[in-house]
Amino acid sequence: MSFSDMPVDVGPVYEGERIRGNQMYVELGGPKIDKKFELVRVNPKVEDGKVTIHGPDLKDMEQGSRHPIGIFVEVAGKELEEDLEAVFERRIHEFCNFVNGIMHLNQRYTNWMRVSIQAFEKGLNSLQQLGTILIRLFKAELPIIEKAQVTFYTDAKEIEEPHAMAMNVYNARDERARGLHDEDVDMYYGCVLCQSFAPTHACCITPDRTSLCGSINWFDARAAAKVDPKGPLFEVPPGECLNEEAGEFAGVNEMIKKRSLGEIERIYLYSGMEFPHTSCGCFEAIDFYIPEINGHGIIDRNHEGTAINGLPFSAMANQTGGGKQMAGFNGISIQYIGSPKYQQYDGGIETIVWMGKGLKDRVADLIPADLVDKIATEEDVQDINGLQAWLEENKHPIIETDGYKAAIGGEEEEEEEYEGEGAMVPMGTQSFMIPGAGGAGGFKVILKNCKIHAESVIIKKLDTKPRRKK
Ligand code: SF4
Ligand code: ZN
Repeated sequence: MSFSDMPVDVGPVYEGERIRGNQMYVELGGPKIDKKFELVRVNPKVEDGKVTIHGPDLKDMEQGSRHPIGIFVEVAGKELEEDLEAVFERRIHEFCNFVNGIMHLNQRYTNWMRVSIQAFEKGLNSLQQLGTILIRLFKAELPIIEKAQVTFYTDAKEIEEPHAMAMNVYNARDERARGLHDEDVDMYYGCVLCQSFAPTHACCITPDRTSLCGSINWFDARAAAKVDPKGPLFEVPPGECLNEEAGEFAGVNEMIKKRSLGEIERIYLYSGMEFPHTSCGCFEAIDFYIPEINGHGIIDRNHEGTAINGLPFSAMANQTGGGKQMAGFNGISIQYIGSPKYQQYDGGIETIVWMGKGLKDRVADLIPADLVDKIATEEDVQDINGLQAWLEENKHPIIETDGYKAAIGGEEEEEEEYEGEGAMVPMGTQSFMIPGAGGAGGFKVILKNCKIHAESVIIKKLDTKPRRKK
């Protein structure tokens, strides 16, 4: 396979390339654009090599502008089945990142791309080129695909219909997976597609735990491992169950130890607090611990503004991602919130005290009906101080728990007990203002997950008077 006819290089070496705001020619999709998607479907009537663009092409876009993006890849091949679509779809991320001068983040309906000024100036000025690159890569990397065609949507009106169609496909995939549970199967699956970004990360995909990117459920992983057992998705025999409540399995531990090159030794599938599943960077949402309440909050990628702990998604994502095992910050799929296994080791769904409003509306049907109105959102309460009163007023079940009573009473036994067991305990997110420093509004110091021991602290006023040049 050659890309010598392309104006820029293409290859795995460019994965991980970052394109900052001031280096970008255009941005496609991303948080500031309402409708975006990427979808793969099997269609025997594919016209091999065909690329179609509905809406402005790259060369018609103004430098610095943002546009919707729909990437619809249709594939054909004798052995293809519908179950493989989601896993093929996840490769769009990888293949776009192979292109020197294109950055691709996220998946499904949160995809976000940038084309660099440098690449545009070299001649990468048409989505025709990207479509052709994708088709060649799909056929070369996944030989089971015999033919492929790509359709792009960059116009706000024209993307509407295919976007709705894509959302229906995602929903149908998610719904199918919801009927199956971990105890119903004897094989789990692993995925290492994100290791180019997070080398110690591997996903363990079970019926109850859809991959944290939200794109690959148990059925999808099974289909992919069957057609390409040596590929990035593979079987994980769960082996002996070491702790049923926590979801600890000897086979899963063995897998993570091997795939993280010894960095991580064990994971609890159903806990965000002890030996949590690692997180790469493309999780749909973050489950975070709120020590002041001994409860949990969930923020999703689309949430604008900050969560109840004062942190926006982006700041928490930095804390959570990169293949780390970070107690108290756990990257999750939205599907997992609806699973009966949801963080059951930490107390399950009844520990959720806060969710972003958009997310809560989305998962309202998946969580117990009598709990929905007891979970606060940014519309109900703005900070941790107000949260306690709100929960008590609305009779959230957490207020009856010993953990809650100890947390609001400020007792320390709980924490010491955890420490005694050698577990990782996240500290609260402390943020405070230093009035008068750094100008009228002061500045904000955020200390995340840290303990500070000091015999004394000296805060000194800086001499800010301009010095005369000698
Ligand atoms: Fe695979 Fe997990 Fe990355 Fe999704 S998040 S692509 S399942 S490694
Ligand atoms: Zn990832």
